[in-house]
Amino acid sequence: MQHIFNFATINHLTGTYFNSPMDINLDNIKEFDSLISSKEDIALIGHFNPDGDSIGTLTAMHEYLKSRKKRSTMIVPSSFPEFLRFLDPDNEILAWSEKPMETVIAIKRADFIICMDFNNLSRVEALEEPINENNAPRVLIDHHLEPEYSEFQIAFTRPDISSACEGLFYVLMAMPDICNDPAKLPGRCAECLYTGMMTDTNNYNNSIFPSTLQMASRLLETGLDKERIQSAVFDNFSESRMRLMGYMLQKKLVVLPKQHSAYMTLTEREKHEYGFREGDTEGFVNLPFAIKGVLVTAFFTESEKYIRVSLRSKCGLSVNDLSKQYFNGGGHAKAAGGRLYMPIDNAGRYFERSIKKYIESQQGTPFE
Ligand code: 5GP
Ligand code: MN
Repeated sequence: MQHIFNFATINHLTGTYFNSPMDINLDNIKEFDSLISSKEDIALIGHFNPDGDSIGTLTAMHEYLKSRKKRSTMIVPSSFPEFLRFLDPDNEILAWSEKPMETVIAIKRADFIICMDFNNLSRVEALEEPINENNAPRVLIDHHLEPEYSEFQIAFTRPDISSACEGLFYVLMAMPDICNDPAKLPGRCAECLYTGMMTDTNNYNNSIFPSTLQMASRLLETGLDKERIQSAVFDNFSESRMRLMGYMLQKKLVVLPKQHSAYMTLTEREKHEYGFREGDTEGFVNLPFAIKGVLVTAFFTESEKYIRVSLRSKCGLSVNDLSKQYFNGGGHAKAAGGRLYMPIDNAGRYFERSIKKYIESQQGTPFE
């Protein structure tokens, strides 16, 4: 079958990334296409605490594989927030935390595994073992720094795109049956891809590249209802979530002017008081950026076993590095996450000490 590309797609797909042998190129696309053709039972894997980009890639790929008459199972290690349910209206996504047996069986029987929106298998927690026990070929579609290439037969990944959904969009555009025509994306595929891009960029606030706007524009040309998606994601929260936001800003926000930083901590008790549900604090970490001079933000959420850490940067300070050094995690230069194992009452002071030490260790000023 003949491949037809426009220039933008060719440039995008042949860009060399870390001089890796696993670049997004035509040979890899052909190999990926023939893997799909030859396999029957495909496991689609998303990361722990799945977000819009993770659920977007899973559901978009699931729709695409359905159009190719393939059985595919969408699998995540832990449950996802209710506001993303519209992406999976038939409740097909399996969460290991809810159905561990079914999840492990689906991974074991898969003859092909596609991992999306994470860069190494440690991000799938309990799923790592069953995935490693399966010798089926593995493909990665992602946008995080430092992908673990050795874990994948093909890796379509580059850090200079908005989201894994953007990466998947360009991979699908290159597939022979889509032939660079977004109108050929089957079913709800376009909607899922758009949602992942929109949520990972925090509604066009960060990580927007020319290729991102091109993707958005090409999806909109197909007649996609962007207002409906926007409303489903951003106008769908509970009253108590809004009140929690007010409380956090009024009572919990700490600003460190010298460090150009701000943070908030949320305790289990406060979660209970405000009827907290998964996804309620989505976007809270970005709120302090509205303050002049704040360039780095942190949000700490107490949970049963550890404190969940979210970090964001609007400057040269890499929160990926900061997280690796002090918060047992990683991610991107401008958005990262991690975990702390200490009482929540100590998290604020720990952040203050860490950010000061980190800034001191940097050559020059990281606030540019
Ligand atoms: P969030 O703050 O939204 O949970 O995560 C921001 C970014 O950091 C996401 O791209 C996510 O994949 C990454 N991330 C979150 N938690 C972790 C973690 O524990 N380890 C690593 N390596 N990355 C994380
Ligand atoms: Mn992502």
